[in-house]
Amino acid sequence: MRATVIHGARDVRIEEVPDPVIQHPTDAVVRVVAACVCGSDLWRYRGIEDVPEPVRMGHEYVGVVEEIGAQVTTLQVGDFVIAPFYVCDSTCENCRNGVSTSCLHGGWWGSHDGTGSSADGGQGERVRAPLADGTLVVVPGQPSDELIPHLLTLSDVMGTGHHAALQGGVREGSTVAVVGDGAVGLCAVLAAKRLGASRVVAMSRHETRQELARRLGATDVVPERGDEGVARLKEMFGGIGPDVVLECVGTKESMDQALRSARPGGQVGFVGVPAGGPELPVRTMFDTNVGVRGGVASVRNYIEELLPEVLDGRLQPGVVFDLELPLAEVAEAYAAMDERRATKVLLRP
Ligand SMILES: [Zn+2]
Repeated sequence: MRATVIHGARDVRIEEVPDPVIQHPTDAVVRVVAACVCGSDLWRYRGIEDVPEPVRMGHEYVGVVEEIGAQVTTLQVGDFVIAPFYVCDSTCENCRNGVSTSCLHGGWWGSHDGTGSSADGGQGERVRAPLADGTLVVVPGQPSDELIPHLLTLSDVMGTGHHAALQGGVREGSTVAVVGDGAVGLCAVLAAKRLGASRVVAMSRHETRQELARRLGATDVVPERGDEGVARLKEMFGGIGPDVVLECVGTKESMDQALRSARPGGQVGFVGVPAGGPELPVRTMFDTNVGVRGGVASVRNYIEELLPEVLDGRLQPGVVFDLELPLAEVAEAYAAMDERRATKVLLRP
């Protein structure tokens, strides 16, 4: 079968690799229907993260179960499934505590799978899914083609935006600002609106993303950043700032923006993967009582809650995909995201 392999900076290739087979009785083999490129895939692509040897890529996919191991009980051949961006058993103490990203037996796509083997990446024709009962979520019936992009966001970006909103404590009537207009930031806008925020400010300078943010529920757009961005938000919300700020970038600047924009006693929910050394200013937090909570999103725990709303059309997060390419053109998919010609690219094998 064909799958995506990265060899080094700006060197992503489609290669012929061995077909996946059941290695453990808890495995399933899934035929990938759609996958996508994540902003975090660009770390290796840009050479920020080393690639000492060729690595299989992709951690977001949906597909159809083709084969199951002897101990798999919740899946059947032919089921349409959503894979979260990691492997988990959904039964250990951490999974049951809602932190399945810290699963005691879990692993990662394109890396160690938690059971002593290496898992396939999602940007390929097929994937061996370890701990299949715990990892994969069955979608009832066979979804229509139009639903596929929306379902695919439950692998990562929609769940991650939802995690930001939960960690920020968004509730009915909250005022919210979202730092970051990538796919996760846009999904955070939708998640905040879904939880009942009365105002949601998207901080964005890109016209097309501003428009998309409004479509997803943003009531306001603020293009300013830094001191000007802080001042603008304070001014918009009674001189003190919004209740909640969702940090969806992960840089020093974005975390600083979030912490200084929230009102005294407010809360920052952060899901931006830390890069470039963001740190918490404890003195500022002491002075303002601004709380901070967040981290890597345990999206597996959210799929069952969000899925019915995607299926009946209430939630349409798939609009964050603004480019669709065949898997064969995966190199162009990476380039388009790297050069910011696309927000998020959907790949079809
Ligand atoms: Zn677990």
